[in-house]
Amino acid sequence: MDAQVYHEEDCDPSIIKKMKVAVIGFGSQGHAHAQNLQDSGAEVVAGLREDSSSRDHAGTVGIKVMTPVEAARWADVVMMLVPDEICADIYKKEIEPEMKPGKALAFAHGFNIHYGKIVPPEGVDVFMVAPKSPGPKVRLSYMNDQGVPMLIAVAQDASGQAKETAMSYAWGIGGARAGLLETTFQIETETDLFGEQHVLCGGTVQLVMTGFDVLVEAGYPPEAAYFEVLHELELITSLMQQTGVGGMLGKISNTAKYGCLTVGPKLVDKRLKDRMRAGLDRIQDGSFAAEWMAEAEAGSPNLSAMMGQIAEHPIEKVGPELRGLFSW
Ligand code: NAP
Ligand code: MG
Repeated sequence: MDAQVYHEEDCDPSIIKKMKVAVIGFGSQGHAHAQNLQDSGAEVVAGLREDSSSRDHAGTVGIKVMTPVEAARWADVVMMLVPDEICADIYKKEIEPEMKPGKALAFAHGFNIHYGKIVPPEGVDVFMVAPKSPGPKVRLSYMNDQGVPMLIAVAQDASGQAKETAMSYAWGIGGARAGLLETTFQIETETDLFGEQHVLCGGTVQLVMTGFDVLVEAGYPPEAAYFEVLHELELITSLMQQTGVGGMLGKISNTAKYGCLTVGPKLVDKRLKDRMRAGLDRIQDGSFAAEWMAEAEAGSPNLSAMMGQIAEHPIEKVGPELRGLFSW
């Protein structure tokens, strides 16, 4: 294997334990990083605006809170865990003036550095620790003495120790228990966007909803359609995650296997692959990033409208009713 994977024995916990860490934002990732780091022995403060709805949450779980400016001034490491589309704005106004030489600036996704939205000063380390999981799972697995795999990368190594600091930070949030895969900001950003747009979120959501529509429009009950195209998806993807494509195919019926391998390629054909390549082009040349930043600056009107359409779709009507009828 070409990729370098690090584990606990490769990390130096003393680096992060000696550092003051400001976690800016206390949402999905923020609450997990802050609590895991504090439990691992680092000194942690959450940087939150005065009227932040997250202040109560941080206080309840025993994380000290400052404003983003105060936290960045106090800290050795500033981890930006606010939504990507407002991150550069918050950085410019509140963090940048505090990024004195010798400090480190950290991210959980490469977007703002890779697309040049944030240009950190020289003299500052810039690294990424990107958990390959939503924040709540980062916290839960840590509490169960486990961890989730994480990507680490260095964009700027002013101290000569940026990678060791990134690895120590990742150790502190539990990632080294699972494994740390070394990458770059470019690779993480482009593959993350590609994956979420074409397969994980964009691809899956459209596949599920289109499959539901076809069945319902053909006269089948929405409840049956819901179970066949949405509910069972998790069972199949879990098998693939644990045992690979072949492992999953080995556990479904021969009928399902034959249907999968004869019908699937007709559906996901060369034309879809060409459209995926076109989507990747737009990620690589920055067109997607520019489009999304313009949308966010305008207050996300299209995103709101599309979310409204999703809420109105019949699969979202039958789903809550069905989920309420079963015990999980
Ligand atoms: P999120 O849950 O949306 O974080 C929201 C946090 O940002 C809240 O604490 C919010 O506090 C704060 N915030 C919003 N506006 C702010 C402002 N103007 N000033 C200060 N704080 C503000 O974000 P996230 O999903 O954790 O994502 C954080 C980063 O992790 C992103 O780079 C993302 O790409 C990356 N990441 C996320 C995941 C994931 O599963 N979510 C996985 C891997 C990497 P208020 O109460 O003040 O609004
Ligand atoms: Mg992503």
